[in-house]
Amino acid sequence: MVDLYIYLSVSEGADFSPESLHSKGKTILLINNGIHPGEPCGIDASLKFAEDLLSSEKKLLKNTAVCIIPFYNIGGGLNRSCCSRAMQNGPQEYGFRGNAQNRDLNRDFIKCDSENAKAFAKIYHQWNPEVFVDCHTTNGSDFQYGMSIIATQKDKLNKRR
Ligand SMILES: [Zn+2]
Repeated sequence: MVDLYIYLSVSEGADFSPESLHSKGKTILLINNGIHPGEPCGIDASLKFAEDLLSSEKKLLKNTAVCIIPFYNIGGGLNRSCCSRAMQNGPQEYGFRGNAQNRDLNRDFIKCDSENAKAFAKIYHQWNPEVFVDCHTTNGSDFQYGMSIIATQKDKLNKRR
């Protein structure tokens, strides 16, 4: 099985060139979804977000371009079942955590053993985002807050601006 990789971008003025957008001083937001296919909330939220951006007055797009990977782990998404995520209060059927080669892609960002990670690295370097969001969903674990944001270490941030 081959994992297919698709992304979409939303930008003012139909400019979809990362180099052009950076030269105009736009901030690039890259959103990744479906690294774990049993966690569909980010997929749904990102598609709604893109729809909202396209149908609104696009104020956010004046200074920002948004690139969305709607479903990173397609291979895992096609391996569907009902019961691999204990305690999940979500869809009756969903994809499996591993990709088509049964790799947990969330553990492959550094080694890049999977074709998924190699494709992701190319897109990440092509878009060179100022902000990157990787969407996950809990499986019913009891957290204090509905959303957790783990910020990048300040000393690791890009100093180009
Ligand atoms: Zn996850």
